[in-house]
Amino acid sequence: MSKLDAANAMTTMTKGWIGAIRRIPSPNCDDRPEGQAVSLIVIHAISLPPAQFGGDSIERLFTNTLDPGVHPYFAAIRSLRVSAHFLIRRDGELIQFVSCDKRAWHAGISCWQGRQRCNDFSIGIELEGCDDIPFEDKQYDRLIGLIKLIRAHYPVAALAGHADIAPERKTDPGPCFAWQRLAVEGIPPRITA
Ligand SMILES: [Zn+2]
Repeated sequence: MSKLDAANAMTTMTKGWIGAIRRIPSPNCDDRPEGQAVSLIVIHAISLPPAQFGGDSIERLFTNTLDPGVHPYFAAIRSLRVSAHFLIRRDGELIQFVSCDKRAWHAGISCWQGRQRCNDFSIGIELEGCDDIPFEDKQYDRLIGLIKLIRAHYPVAALAGHADIAPERKTDPGPCFAWQRLAVEGIPPRITA
């Protein structure tokens, strides 16, 4: 594939999958409710173990292959069945786990604008990160490109953080996430619950 082909592939989506990025299909997904349009993007942060970056633990969590012997925290979360559509790593790499046409299991019990079960109508994007460490420029650049691409295919009207839609349970993407960096043309506004 030439460089130009690769760039074009990043701007295409087929059946909810972006071309030419790493794809690690997660079994933790199912169909969206009939007729449910995608109207929201939920921004998350994750690191496994917490505040440690690198390695393949996030991919393993989303594919139910986490080794509980590697870290005590993993034993506590090994039975979770979760996923997100996308993960943006610290170096800006974008990985897709679930087709945007399908429902990923990222939001859990949640409510946005009076609507329950945000997984039904949202796309979940995880950034590798935590509450106490700033995110990388490459992550913001990749996130902005990804949101623009999603918007070209789905009627997304707003962004929200996981903490916005599940404030009692969640803090991500956390205080280090610079929402103002998403205030650029083509990116929908953050609307909290
Ligand atoms: Zn989250």
